[in-house]
Amino acid sequence: GTPTHEHVSLAEDWVASNYSPLPVVIASAEGAWVTDVEGRRYLDALAGYSALNFGHRHPSLVAAARAQLDRLTLTSRAFHSDRLGPFCRDLAMLAGKDLVLPMNTGAEAVETAVKTARRWGYEVKGVPDGRARIVVMAGNFHGRTTTIVSFSDDPVAHDHYGPYTPGFDIVPFGDLEALEATITDETVAVLLEPVQGEAGVIIPPGGWLRGVRELTRSRDVLMVADEIQSGLGRTGTTFACGVEDVVPDVYVLGKALGGGIVPVSAVVADRDVLGVFTPGSHGSTFGGNPLAAAVGQAVVGLLATGEYQQQAHRLGVALESGLRELVGHGVDAVRCRGLWAGVDLDPDLMTGREASYRLLEQGVLVKDTHGSTVRIAPPLVASDGDIDLLIEAFGAILR
Ligand code: PLP
Repeated sequence: GTPTHEHVSLAEDWVASNYSPLPVVIASAEGAWVTDVEGRRYLDALAGYSALNFGHRHPSLVAAARAQLDRLTLTSRAFHSDRLGPFCRDLAMLAGKDLVLPMNTGAEAVETAVKTARRWGYEVKGVPDGRARIVVMAGNFHGRTTTIVSFSDDPVAHDHYGPYTPGFDIVPFGDLEALEATITDETVAVLLEPVQGEAGVIIPPGGWLRGVRELTRSRDVLMVADEIQSGLGRTGTTFACGVEDVVPDVYVLGKALGGGIVPVSAVVADRDVLGVFTPGSHGSTFGGNPLAAAVGQAVVGLLATGEYQQQAHRLGVALESGLRELVGHGVDAVRCRGLWAGVDLDPDLMTGREASYRLLEQGVLVKDTHGSTVRIAPPLVASDGDIDLLIEAFGAILR
C-alpha cells in the first residue's frame, strides 16, 4: 500500500491547511482502536472530539445505518419520512423536553439556538426588535460560523472574519456575580458549555450551574447549554448539566448524536421555546434526514440503557486516579469529569503538541488543545486495560 508520508504529502498538496493533523493515516477502526495504512494499531483517546463516544463502528449503530441505506436516505423536509418522528420522540424523552429541531453539524445547532433565543426574546419575552443580547462565556467554543466566531475570544478562531455579528456579551466562565451584573432586560439567553472542552476541559466551580439556573429563571432569560461535546454520556451522566441536577431551557446536541457515522445535531427544548418557529422561518435540506434519524434514534437507544454513562463514570475514576499520580512528575494539573480529562503539562518540559507526537509513538492518539494542555476523551467503550495502557503511555513520555 501507499506509505504514510505519501498520504500526508498528498493531503498537504490538495487539502486547505485549516488543520495540522498528526502524521498518522488511519485506514480502519473498531471500538476504541484504529489501524493505520502501515498496519500499526493505536488507542483512540480523542474519539473524534467526542463524536465517537460509542466507539468506531458500534455494531448496532452500523446495523441501523445499513438497514436504513437499503430503504431510504433522503426526503428533504418537504415531505415526511417514517424515521423523523420516532427519532425526535425518543430524543425529546431522553432529554425530558417537548420538541426537537434537527440539524446536521454542531455549529448549525448553536446557530439554531441563537435564533431560537432571539425569536423567543422578541415574541415571548417582549424585547424590542433588534435589541436582544446573549451572554456567553470567556474561553467559549461553539463552532466556526461567522456569528459564532464573532463572540469567540480566541484570536485564532476569531480574527479577520469581520464584520462581526453584534449582540453578545462575554463574562468570565464560572463567575456568577459577573453574569448577574451583565444581564439586562434585553438579555434573552445565557449560552454556556457546562464543561469547556476546547478550552482544555475546564470545569466550573461547584454550584455555578445551579446558580446560573436560578439566576436565569428569576430574570426571565433562557439557559442554553451547549452539550455538543459534554453531552450524551461523556461525563458519566446523560448531560453534563445533570452532574448538578440542572435542567437548562435548551439543550444543544451534536457530535455523538450521529454515532460517528453521520453528522446529526439538534436543539431540544419545551414547546414554549421551540414553538417560536413557523414554517419557512428556519430549516436545513439535510436536517433530520432518514439516515441521520435512524442512526440518531439508535444512539438514543444506547443512552436509554444508562450503560454508557455508567461506563464513563467507572473508567473515569480509573483515568483520574492514574493521571493524578503524574502530577508533580511532568504534569502540573489534571481536570476530570467522567471519561474526559484535561492534562496541563509542565510547560518547561514539553508542549501539548510534543506530548501528542510522543503519545503517537507510544500507540495512543490524543490532541493538544491550548499550549501545554492535552485533552483525553477515549470512546466510552474502552476497556479497563485500555485506560491502564493510556496511563502507562503518559507516564512513559514524561520519563
Ligand atoms: N460546540 C461545542 C461545545 C463543540 O465542542 C463543538 C465542536 O468542537 C461545536 C459546538 C461545533 O461543532 P461542529 O464542529 O460539528 O460544528
